[in-house]
Amino acid sequence: MAAFRIGQGYDIHPLVPGRRLVLGGVDIPYERGLAGHSDADAVLHAVTDALLGALGAGDIGRHFSDRDPRHEGRPSREFVLEAMAMVRARGWQVGNVDVTVHAEAPKLAPYLDSMRTVLAELLGVAPDAANVKATRGEGLGPIGRAEGIAAQAVVLLERG
Ligand code: MG
Repeated sequence: MAAFRIGQGYDIHPLVPGRRLVLGGVDIPYERGLAGHSDADAVLHAVTDALLGALGAGDIGRHFSDRDPRHEGRPSREFVLEAMAMVRARGWQVGNVDVTVHAEAPKLAPYLDSMRTVLAELLGVAPDAANVKATRGEGLGPIGRAEGIAAQAVVLLERG
């Protein structure tokens, strides 16, 4: 039986006025927020997809469809926790997670440690096993024009 599984996830949401900005489970003060069916937390969606990917269990759309009214406005940490329940039920635990957030604005550096704390708690790992990085789009493409925020995540699962 394999000792490790790896999964990756990617998500992007548009930035629009009149929405809270929630990234990595952290409320970030900004004049716009991410549009979406749930709280549109691109970081936690990417992490959820990475967990599901590592399990070979499809994707977030299959488990938490944005056409299902039950998921409207849901905090995305609930998607991560449900994915983690699947991870544990199948005999795995998280080794580490590494996230890159692509955002031109707002500046995310002051919030990265808080995101790390949330992720570590949700995934049941030590803080140094939950890394969150941010990078800008340097003016290029939709991210560079601050039209949206994207996130990538990689997780390693090990036998629990
Ligand atoms: Mg999403």
